[in-house]
Amino acid sequence: MSVPTAAADSAICAPLPVLGGDVLVPLVTGGEVAYAALDYAASAPALQRVWDDVAAYAPYYGSVHRGAGYLSQLSTDLFENSRATVAEFLGCREGDQVVFTRSTTDSLNLLAAVVPADCEVFVFETEHHASLLPWRDAAVTYLDAPRTPQQAVATLERALAARTAVSPGGQGSALVCVTGASNVTGELWPVRELAAAAHAHGARIVLDAAQLAPHHPVDIAELDVDWVAFSGHKLYAPFGSGVLAGRSDWLQEAEPYLAGGGASRRVARRGDGGVDVEWHTTAARHEAGSPNVIGVYSIASACKALTEAGFDSLVAREQSLVSRVRAGLAEVPAVKVLSLFGDEAPRVGVISFVVEGWNSSHFAAALSAEYGIGVRDGLFCAHPLVRTLLGSDPQDQGECGAPESEPGETSLNAVRVSFGAGTPDEHVERFVTAVKELVRDGARWNYRTEDGRCVPAV
Ligand code: PMP
Repeated sequence: MSVPTAAADSAICAPLPVLGGDVLVPLVTGGEVAYAALDYAASAPALQRVWDDVAAYAPYYGSVHRGAGYLSQLSTDLFENSRATVAEFLGCREGDQVVFTRSTTDSLNLLAAVVPADCEVFVFETEHHASLLPWRDAAVTYLDAPRTPQQAVATLERALAARTAVSPGGQGSALVCVTGASNVTGELWPVRELAAAAHAHGARIVLDAAQLAPHHPVDIAELDVDWVAFSGHKLYAPFGSGVLAGRSDWLQEAEPYLAGGGASRRVARRGDGGVDVEWHTTAARHEAGSPNVIGVYSIASACKALTEAGFDSLVAREQSLVSRVRAGLAEVPAVKVLSLFGDEAPRVGVISFVVEGWNSSHFAAALSAEYGIGVRDGLFCAHPLVRTLLGSDPQDQGECGAPESEPGETSLNAVRVSFGAGTPDEHVERFVTAVKELVRDGARWNYRTEDGRCVPAV
């Protein structure tokens, strides 16, 4: 994976217009302030361009792949053209398929459902649960957390070599699942090197690009990964669609992920009373049911918007925000930023930290209630990773996002701030100031725990 630095001469662009920039939220201390959305890693705001494209299409909305009417044909064209746009955005190879899903989680579950029966899966324990958990029917090897990108490659090499040693030559299929950018530390993983290691040992690799694609170009051919998965709602297209793109063979050899209309080409009663089905061999095989044309179109619109804005200048802008936040946090000794690969590791705009003496839920609640800043606290659906980074018991896994202690007590959770193409400088400046003030002066309000969340005690 290349370092997320923009080309030397790339100018820092202005933030891309997003929805919600002028939404005012109340402060417990009185008055209102424009909401600072700093939780892009969970869901990014919609790009204005995406919203405008969807609004322009909405009157023409019609059934996809079904109707004979003009709007049905138009919608079907829009749907299939969106597939082509996404394929281009990802640099898909000849023969690759783009399957539309609901999300990254759905995409990886789809892949898990089509892996060959003898497939061994290799996944780092540091993955998001969406990458860690779907491989129910496969033999899964969980790889220990590496502390450098080189160690990640070496760990994978070792695990794959051991597999070859156990069944020399004639081993069955194997799949490696790896994240491109961590949703906890923002750090980039050495995807190209991991792909080379996987292929050298006859394994395939799927890239979880949920956090990478919104921040960095992802080129499936250049990275030489077999599949890429990502979600629309993290790519400024919050209408409920996702993508699994890549090799078609496993997808086409497997039974459809969902059985039903759209996936079937021909269905007929058999003489013995049963039903014969001929399934599609295109992406439609795994897209049964009426597709989410708005969701799919919004992803295509976002892909175009990011490409047209120029990833180099988007990356340059985001890296300047990363530097600003990291420098600001470094000035506060009570703040510890979580990192697997160290300070110098290339990273996207996702930063998690703990504050000495603070429960993270309390800290996040104060950022919201007293500064109008939306961040996230918790274990970020990557429990083993956060536990490793915090150095606390990896077995003690609370619910995703649930605070584990009362306001005021030190927390086992972390706070995550994340941003991207729509983030104005003011949001990160306000965040840095807020962190400093909260650490220096304490919260100005009282908080209590309600339904597992820390909230202002009104
Ligand atoms: N992988 C990573 C790295 C993520 O950050 C997330 C979302 N937090 C997912 C997968 C799952 O994405 P979704 O919730 O859209 O399925």
